[in-house]
Amino acid sequence: MSPQPLSPNNVRDLLDSVEAFLFDCDGVIWKGNELIDGVSQTLDMLRWKGKKVVFVTNNSLKSRAQYAQKFRSLGISVSPDEIFSSSFAAAMYLKVNHFPSQSKVYVIGGEGILEELQLAGFTAFGGPGDANKTVDLKQNCFVEHDKSVGAVVVGIDPNINYYKLQYGTLCIRENPGCLFIATNRDAVGHMTASQEWPGAGCMVAAICGSTQKEPIVVGKPSTFMMEFLLKKFNLSCSKMCMVGDRLDTDILFGQNAGCKTLLVFSGCTPQSVLQDPSNNIQPDYYTSKISDMLDLSGK
Ligand code: PLP
Ligand code: CA
Repeated sequence: MSPQPLSPNNVRDLLDSVEAFLFDCDGVIWKGNELIDGVSQTLDMLRWKGKKVVFVTNNSLKSRAQYAQKFRSLGISVSPDEIFSSSFAAAMYLKVNHFPSQSKVYVIGGEGILEELQLAGFTAFGGPGDANKTVDLKQNCFVEHDKSVGAVVVGIDPNINYYKLQYGTLCIRENPGCLFIATNRDAVGHMTASQEWPGAGCMVAAICGSTQKEPIVVGKPSTFMMEFLLKKFNLSCSKMCMVGDRLDTDILFGQNAGCKTLLVFSGCTPQSVLQDPSNNIQPDYYTSKISDMLDLSGK
């Protein structure tokens, strides 16, 4: 069926049939550091109706606790338990797959990944700690790597450097059992409201290039995070709606799991994409911003 604009009728159906709303964060809840209009009132309405609300972000720079703090600073009270960041997904992937606690994890990425890995009981290093390390290719350089590294986690790393690329590459190339995990492969991120920046996809591609391996992706649109949260909250996909501003991450994530999907135009996707013949991902519903649910519900 072709995508339907939200209307009073289908909002009523959605609110009657959906038990849990999964919200992407950037472009849906906030833009950079600014809350999108009407978000707080819409979340209040959903909670008042007894709906579960969950926040799923591909941005791995922060941990769940840091995201809870960001929500608080924007005037929204959210528990870290309701937040599923790709940094947390990386840690949970290792936990669910019984990654041995004596193995170490090397991180190309931000503080959020390190914090989640450490909270889950893993020994992780790299990331911001290797920000100032350099390799002088004019010298007879040699990087010594820790042979007990059993996984390399790659996410967006604003301090990416050649040393980190070499370290991650050595861990993966020299140990065939070493896992290569990507938090996400977003082409660009919105670190500031005014401009897009190269996203984690660019760092992941660098390691794909040097290792000739493909990563295990744990963020949207992969099904890992969805399966994890379905189990955790004992939810069923048919009673969930994924709300996002990107077709190739959010809407595909919802569709892959059999959820209802709602595309909003408050983020990075313009409405014209729905008429673009080269686009093959279509949401069930679309609207300009999530507070339309509140306005159309008549509350
Ligand atoms: N990755 C980075 C680095 C970002 O800055 C963003 C958005 O700000 C994203 C990913 C996408 O985040 P989300 O899944 O919340 O839209
Ligand atoms: Ca988004």
